[in-house]
Amino acid sequence: MTDHVSTLNALLDRFTRARHPGPTTYRWAHRHDGGEHGTHLVFSSLIHGNEVGSLPGLVRAVEDLRSGVLTYGGTATLLLGNPEAAQADVRFLQDDLNRVFLPDLDDALHEHRRARELMPLLDEADVYLDFHQTLKACREPFYIFPWSETGWLWVRALAGARVWVTRNPGQAFSSGTMCADEYVRDRGHPGITVELGEKGWSEQAADRTYSMIADALRFADGVARGTMTLREAAEAQPDVRFFETKHRLAFSDPAMTLAPGLANFEPVIAGQLLSAPGTPELRAPSPGAVLFPKYPPRDAAGRALDPRPGEIARVISELEQHPLALWG
Ligand SMILES: [Zn+2]
Repeated sequence: MTDHVSTLNALLDRFTRARHPGPTTYRWAHRHDGGEHGTHLVFSSLIHGNEVGSLPGLVRAVEDLRSGVLTYGGTATLLLGNPEAAQADVRFLQDDLNRVFLPDLDDALHEHRRARELMPLLDEADVYLDFHQTLKACREPFYIFPWSETGWLWVRALAGARVWVTRNPGQAFSSGTMCADEYVRDRGHPGITVELGEKGWSEQAADRTYSMIADALRFADGVARGTMTLREAAEAQPDVRFFETKHRLAFSDPAMTLAPGLANFEPVIAGQLLSAPGTPELRAPSPGAVLFPKYPPRDAAGRALDPRPGEIARVISELEQHPLALWG
């Protein structure tokens, strides 16, 4: 057994020992019932199997809820999306779980069966927090989801990242796929995704996960008991900086290759060369930062193997106005 799998299995064992299933039949969910108020918070880790960094923090939160180190008067569900893919150290086994929270599913596929198990849990969320990590290096943690004022108050109050890649919520988005956070927002509740840094075990990712869960429980209790407002919790923290996607750089030629070492939130200037020497020239069309740089597997001639990603990278830039002024 590799170190990765033994570390993972030890955490999954701890989760299984500590968990209280509650009414759910889903094996990888812990249900906490505080019995005092009705606010239901849902937290998830491992929606992508190899993004394991949040897992130790989430497992610790389950244990601390069981032992009483953490208290919460409402209902909380802490779930693991795809431990089976985590054991294989892959993003997913058969299909990307974070695209298939959809009505029409193929029960032959592991992730489709899993989405069917998870949707009833997400249906109950008043607030949903989904912990991810990026494929490649990351200069700093970031939130990524469309703007909403309530989402903003949570983001700021939880202080899980100092930057938020957001977009106009009125903007039409790719149909035919549905992420977990999007599924919750579709039902009228905040669905918040945070990218904690580059994928893998990370003390910083684990600590951040735990403190975001603990803070979310504390704020939801305070709001339910009328001892605080979410706005007060938000205003106790500095505001985040807002970014939006300016350019999606199409992966139009399999020979296209990014210069080595481009990280998420790597600052770029307009016209900066992004491609590796001797490959089709690619320059940053505007100043800002790189997001989701892709380094896919390649053949001996350096051509990206199929199916290659649709985008080789994005360029994001800081919003010139507050989203509250832009989008309300
Ligand atoms: Zn992810």
